[in-house]
Amino acid sequence: MTHCLLCGESLLTASTLALGPLAVCNRFEKNASTNVPIHSLSISECKACRLVQLSEYPPLEYVQPRLPWIRYNEPTAHLDAAIKHLEPFFFAAPPHKIMGVGPFDKPLLDRLAQREFNQMHLDLSAELPQEPARYPYLESIQAVLRPYTLFKLAATQGVAQFVSCRYLLEHSHDPVASLRGLRHLMTDDGLLLIEVPDSSRFLLMMDYSFIWEEHICYFTEDTFRECALRAGYEIVQFTRYPGALEDALIFVLRTTKHSPAPKAIKHTWGNSNTFIRYRAGFENVRQQYRNALKSISARGKKVAIFGAGHQSIMFVNALGLAHHISYAIDDAPEKIGYLIPGTSIPIVPSEHLTRDPSIDVCLLGVGHHIEESVRNKCAGYLKRGGQMYTIFPGAGSATFIDGKV
Ligand SMILES: [Zn+2]
Repeated sequence: MTHCLLCGESLLTASTLALGPLAVCNRFEKNASTNVPIHSLSISECKACRLVQLSEYPPLEYVQPRLPWIRYNEPTAHLDAAIKHLEPFFFAAPPHKIMGVGPFDKPLLDRLAQREFNQMHLDLSAELPQEPARYPYLESIQAVLRPYTLFKLAATQGVAQFVSCRYLLEHSHDPVASLRGLRHLMTDDGLLLIEVPDSSRFLLMMDYSFIWEEHICYFTEDTFRECALRAGYEIVQFTRYPGALEDALIFVLRTTKHSPAPKAIKHTWGNSNTFIRYRAGFENVRQQYRNALKSISARGKKVAIFGAGHQSIMFVNALGLAHHISYAIDDAPEKIGYLIPGTSIPIVPSEHLTRDPSIDVCLLGVGHHIEESVRNKCAGYLKRGGQMYTIFPGAGSATFIDGKV
């Protein structure tokens, strides 16, 4: 991409971190000789609107899952609180119909099941590509969120007074068009709930595992506000729900009758150097990890990584650590027997860690909320002196390179 996805400014002179050619994080194979397609990945910050976004990413066809079990989790712990915050809208003008757009809207709609609303989930199936051995997911759903397609779907499936679209806009290759399209699903006085993850913390904490070829836009509160304004909405309510690694941002939007002239907004997150620091810090973090892991193999010991999700995979591939990691541990039965995409690192169940005395360090690529259960599961490993370090510098516990940078 040579132009900003939000404001259209050229990205040719933008601050850019190029990660080079990488494997797609969902391309699990069982055989290391199978060619996994690689693609260039770069992340940039637009100088004009400051949206952090991928400026080089793989085509949609590369990212479409080849395995039926590729599914992602999004946070739900804050949803009861979120519904309380939304009460004024439900009481002031009871929505007769609530519509969920994507796979992450069901948990929100389920919490409203006791109420007098008609619920519906938009049926996108006819719009998704039907190819053998492809299992279209978020990368394909985001491409359906465009004005013409949503206009067409609204004509047959109807509109709603309250439309919910959680965790899809950050996947969009054209977020302003996606938002403009969603208005076709709303009644004239309808409301649109958008939830996106806040990217500010991982940028501030120099966490490179959060870059992902499927997340095109790395919104903050400010850049999403700008996106909503440009798409012709006003923000009726905004709430931030703190998370361990990234906050959830919930915006309730209403269409404006006139398109406001885009104007520069005042940015409140970080400072103008945040992304420049992030970009500049990459080489240092990569070198620190390489040196630290090399020193373990020099002692005749080994390193494992716990969790075979996209963050662990990006961590290993972007930092170039594959040669230093003996195996990845994941207890999801469908992942056992596969390799970390782009590497020959096998994925094995957690009992390996307890049985294998050669592992000295286990890096944790799992969410902060399950760190404790991982430590309990691997009590035998810890008891014999095995060390565990999170890969997430914002998680609150130590990383392997803390104090070494
Ligand atoms: Zn821009």
